[in-house]
Amino acid sequence: MTIVRSELFARFPELLFGMSTVEGGISPGTFGLNLSYNVQDDPANVEENRRLFFGALGLTTDQVAFTSQQHTTDILTVSSPGQNDTCDALITASAGVFLAISIADCTPVMLYDPVRKVAAGIHAGWRGTAGRIVEGCIRRLQQEFGTVPHDLFAFIGPSAGVCCYEVGAEVAAQFPDQCVRPGAVKGKFLLDVKKANVLQLLDNGVRNSNIEVHKDCTIHDRRYHSHRRDGTGSGRMFAVIGITT
Ligand SMILES: [Zn+2]
Repeated sequence: MTIVRSELFARFPELLFGMSTVEGGISPGTFGLNLSYNVQDDPANVEENRRLFFGALGLTTDQVAFTSQQHTTDILTVSSPGQNDTCDALITASAGVFLAISIADCTPVMLYDPVRKVAAGIHAGWRGTAGRIVEGCIRRLQQEFGTVPHDLFAFIGPSAGVCCYEVGAEVAAQFPDQCVRPGAVKGKFLLDVKKANVLQLLDNGVRNSNIEVHKDCTIHDRRYHSHRRDGTGSGRMFAVIGITT
């Protein structure tokens, strides 16, 4: 099984981070290692895929906090595992609670404050990014935990890349010019959601040297699930973060 890791996060022995790919699962066809019950995959396969993936991280499913994501900017702080109400970002300071963010093209932004020992997982598609969910999450960390943004480390995971992520003018208009390129088709644009989130981190006091951006694009790289590429045949990956001790 291939697990995407972060070089920056690897320096903290108390922090666990890993993101799944298509590989290593038992579901048929493009589903592969699908981890979501909300796609047309057999729930028994999903259960086994989750067991395999969490097992590869050294976890069991009952240590993980889940959420249903609806492209909102809602943020929830949790202190126990299990299913949560709808939100698109989870925060925890509880050791032994691991946050799962579901991904297929949308950008996972994972944060860690090694001083206050708080972790966050954010689902930042174009809507969440335009709604500044990463900024909202940093505010919440400041208010609830006394986080100083200068202390934060951030990992931006494999997701839709500017090479492939075509959007219309009405979406492009919601982003800074430096995140938008003209597309091949007139009236279409290529959007760099990863860069938009980097700018949001920098705007809010996160140091450039504390930000890691994974270069892989989920749309053209078949090692990843992509909703844009595979439509209803697309599975979902998990980006998981939490504090072990
Ligand atoms: Zn691409």
